[in-house]
Amino acid sequence: MPFASWPSSLWRDNSLSHAFCSATADIECDVCIVGAGFSGLWTAAHLLSLDPEKKIVVIDAAQPGFGASGRNGGWCSAFLPMSLDAIAARSSRESAILMQRAMNDTISEIGQFISDHKVECSWVAGGTLHSATNPAHLSRLRADVDRYRTYGFGDEHIALLSGTAAAQRINASNTIGATYSPHCAALHPGQLIDGLVKHCVANGVMIYGDTRVVDIAPHCVTAKASDSRVQIKANQIVRATEGYTSAMVQSHRDLVPVYSYMIATEPLPQSVWDSIGWQQRETFADARNMVIYAQRTADNRIAFGGRGAPYRFGSAVNSKFDDDSAVHRKITSTMHALFPDTQDALITHHWGGPLGIARDWFAGVTLDETTGLATLGGYVGDGVAASYLAAKTLAHLVTGTSESVTRLPWAQHVSPKWEPEPLRWLGINALLKVPALADAREARTKKPSSWLLGILGKFTK
Ligand SMILES: Cc1cc2nc3c(=O)[nH]c(=O)nc-3n(C[C@H](O)[C@H](O)[C@H](O)COP(=O)(O)OP(=O)(O)OC[C@H]3O[C@@H](n4cnc5c(N)ncnc54)[C@H](O)[C@@H]3O)c2cc1C
Repeated sequence: MPFASWPSSLWRDNSLSHAFCSATADIECDVCIVGAGFSGLWTAAHLLSLDPEKKIVVIDAAQPGFGASGRNGGWCSAFLPMSLDAIAARSSRESAILMQRAMNDTISEIGQFISDHKVECSWVAGGTLHSATNPAHLSRLRADVDRYRTYGFGDEHIALLSGTAAAQRINASNTIGATYSPHCAALHPGQLIDGLVKHCVANGVMIYGDTRVVDIAPHCVTAKASDSRVQIKANQIVRATEGYTSAMVQSHRDLVPVYSYMIATEPLPQSVWDSIGWQQRETFADARNMVIYAQRTADNRIAFGGRGAPYRFGSAVNSKFDDDSAVHRKITSTMHALFPDTQDALITHHWGGPLGIARDWFAGVTLDETTGLATLGGYVGDGVAASYLAAKTLAHLVTGTSESVTRLPWAQHVSPKWEPEPLRWLGINALLKVPALADAREARTKKPSSWLLGILGKFTK
């Protein structure tokens, strides 16, 4: 069962303890939002600011923040799952530039919300560092920077750092260079969810927990809570279910769930920080192909994550997949290799959760004016900030306000459906093996594995 139990994430220690009651009778409202993660809650918040009179209902199969929003690495970054080239290919160079600028502004807007509403979520806009520990990484980082330059983004957007300059920020082993971008903040995602919930409830949004939506039809949602069935009638119905979308029959092939996993150390002593640095709490990754990501938390732990788990047949999502000891071991040894001073640190938490990936790796926001059905998501591993902008896009579509945000290239973008099984399982698991193979090859040859990555790029960019 996908909603059977919460994982023991670091963030749940001091946030996410909501207990909203389930829906027990039929409801009528203006907008019904299915899913109380960042996408659903930001949609409610944006709708409220455009039309405070709207009657908004949010339904969650568990409780707010149960999904990826309450489990992530806390990178609030201006990255998108799709490259600027992919955006330009589907729209125009100008639209790709506008999209990136809108994402950059999003980080400041979220920071502003947090400060205006006094949300205590350890927000620090320290930027992000991607380090290179071998020449193949460095040439990939250079290529990234060059690509941004072709769209007119200079050092103020992303800069290449020498090995010494990179190590002065974060002293990861064998750093020979890095990129630094200021457009990222580290935060405590659970506490941001709590802040959003408080804001929504204070402004009249009704939230129901432990209520699982089983069918979404035009202007009508059917949900199950305990033994009873309820119907919610609404002008618009927003599906904001990301990594759990496949569990609903009608959207089974819209987004595939792929799991990402995290560990957290105990709080590390000052001697470790004297050696590693990491003074500005920049978010950290390196340029290997297998995605890794880390942050220094406000209480001086390292929260470190990575991918590498296989895709489960039939797009299965289940609470039992929230822990994967093999992947957690790999993540721990990657952290030890990059930061040998953490060798003796206790790993106090390990958890995971599903991301949502569209067939064309292009996040989308849709609204069908006739049926009132709306969707947002497909952020892969970059949804913390992207969900804010997607929700803003959707809120303007719903209220019919024509803003530059509704002309962003993801507005009304419909991704193709994933292939039926077993093709989906075969294809995705073959592709998921490529990053590790490419990393092993690059470690040997010190050159980018261009042909292997070319195959991956064909499907993911
Ligand atoms: C381990 C991990 C690390 C990550 N790290 C980062 C990061 O550092 N930075 C970043 O930008 N992104 C990161 N991501 C991705 C990011 O967390 C997600 O893209 C984002 O949180 C998606 O938000 P959402 O609201 O769309 O989906 P979710 O947070 O998954 O919310 C979906 C909600 O829908 C509910 N739901 C599902 N089905 C139903 C149903 N049938 N009926 C009612 N309710 C339902 C669920 O209970 C859930 O609460 C990470 C993800 C994971 C798993």
